[in-house]
Amino acid sequence: MKQKRFFLSDSELPQQWYNIVADMPQKPQPLLNPQTRQPAKLDELSQIFATECCRQELNTTEAWIDIPEQVQELYRNYRSTPLVRAYGLEKALDTPAHIYFKNESVNPLGSHKINSAIPQCYYCKQEGITNVTTETGAGQWGMALSYAARLFGLEAAVYQVKVSYNQKPYRRILMQTFGAQVIASPSMSTRAGKDILTHDPNHNGSLGTAISEAVELATTTPEKCKYTLGSVMNHVSLHQTIMGLEAEKQMEMAGEYPDKVIACFGGGSNFSGICFPFMRHNLRQGKKTEFIAAEPASCPKITRGEFRYDYGDEAGITPLIPMFTLGHKFKPANIHAGGLRYHGAGAIVSQLIKDGLMHGMDIPQLESFDAGLLFARSEGIIPAPESCHAIAATVREALKCKEEGKSKTLLFCLTGHGLIDATAYEQYINGDLINYEYK
Ligand SMILES: *Cc1c(COP(=O)(O)O)cnc(C)c1O
Repeated sequence: MKQKRFFLSDSELPQQWYNIVADMPQKPQPLLNPQTRQPAKLDELSQIFATECCRQELNTTEAWIDIPEQVQELYRNYRSTPLVRAYGLEKALDTPAHIYFKNESVNPLGSHKINSAIPQCYYCKQEGITNVTTETGAGQWGMALSYAARLFGLEAAVYQVKVSYNQKPYRRILMQTFGAQVIASPSMSTRAGKDILTHDPNHNGSLGTAISEAVELATTTPEKCKYTLGSVMNHVSLHQTIMGLEAEKQMEMAGEYPDKVIACFGGGSNFSGICFPFMRHNLRQGKKTEFIAAEPASCPKITRGEFRYDYGDEAGITPLIPMFTLGHKFKPANIHAGGLRYHGAGAIVSQLIKDGLMHGMDIPQLESFDAGLLFARSEGIIPAPESCHAIAATVREALKCKEEGKSKTLLFCLTGHGLIDATAYEQYINGDLINYEYK
C-alpha cells in the first residue's frame, strides 16, 4: 500500500526548537543599533520585543531551546502537520522525482505563521505585557497574531499594508473577528505614517511602512506594549524550526531523506524553519542536501540584492540587519503573493547564502500561478500565492529530473492555503495577471 500522508503522535512531537547559529561555521554579523552603529544589546532590543525573544535573537551558543510546556500544549491543537507524498503532482509531471510537501495549510489559521505567533504572545504574557502590535501584508501574520493574542488575553493592534487592507477585506474581517484593531498603513495615527503620507499622499503602503508604524507604537509605551514580527528575525526562524524537525522524523517514516528542500521566501521564516534542521546534517555530518529559496522575480532580494547592513523598515527605525536587500525604500510591484513583497532577507539566512550554503531561484508571477493551478488540480489543495512560488521551483526541479532521467527526493513547504486569495486565481484564469520585472 502506498502511504500518502505521515503524522507524528503527540509524544513524538519535538520539545525543543533548533538554533542553527550554534552550528554555523561563520556566525551572522550582529544587529546594530541604528543610532550608535554598535551591536544591539539585550536591553535595547527588549524596548521593542519581548525580552525572551531578544535572548533567543542573540543566542549564538545553544543549539537546542526548550519549547515552553504551554506552547507545546497549544501546538498540539494542530500539530503535527502532515508530511504528504505528492503522488498526484508526480503523475501530472510524469517525473521520476519523489515529491513531498509539509502541509502547513491545514491548521485553522491557514498558514505557518501561527507557529511563531503562539510563543511570541506567550512570552509577552509571561513578562506582564498587555498589548501587542505588528504589521501584516496579505494578512496571514495579522490573523495568526490576532488569534494568539486572544489565547493569552492580550490586545492586538495590527497595521495592515493599505493595498492589502483594501484588496483583501476577508483577512481584515477575520482579524477583527478575533478581536484585533486593524489600521490601514500608512496611517495618520503615527509620526512615521504622517511623514510618509506628507511625502506621498497616495502611498499604497508596504511591509516597510507598516513595520515603522507598529514599532513606533511599541517604543512609545515599551512597558506595556511589544512589537511582534512574523518573519525576518532570528527568533521567528527559531520557532519555525518545529516544521523541519517534524519533517525530519516524518521523512524517516517514509524511508527517505531529501536531496533538495525548497521553500518560498518573504523574509525567510518558513524557508529557515523547513531547511535548518536538515542543514544541520550538512553542517555536522557533511550531507549534501541543496536548499532553494523561491522568491518572486519582481522582488528578488536573494538573486539580485546586495549583502549589506540595512533597516528592516521603510522609515529606518528598526535595528540595522546584515542582509541581502533591495534597499529599505524599495517599492515592490503589486503581486498577489503579498507575503513575499519584503525588501530583505533575515540575518542567518543571508549569512548562509553569502557562504554558498543555500541559494535563491526567482519565479515570475505567471509561472507561480501556473504551478499553483497544476498543484490544485493534481492534489486538491488550493495553495496560497506565496506557496505557489515553492511549487513552481519544485516543478522546475522535478522536470529537470525527468530530463536527466534521475530520481531525486524533493521536499517543499506548503506554507498556506489560498482559499481567501480566490480573486487572485480569478484574475489569473481570466488572463488579467502579468509578470513584473525587477529594474
Ligand atoms: C508570510 C507568508 C510567507 C512568507 O514569509 P516567510 O517569512 O518568508 O516564510 C509565505 N507563505 C505564506 C502563506 C505566508 O503567510
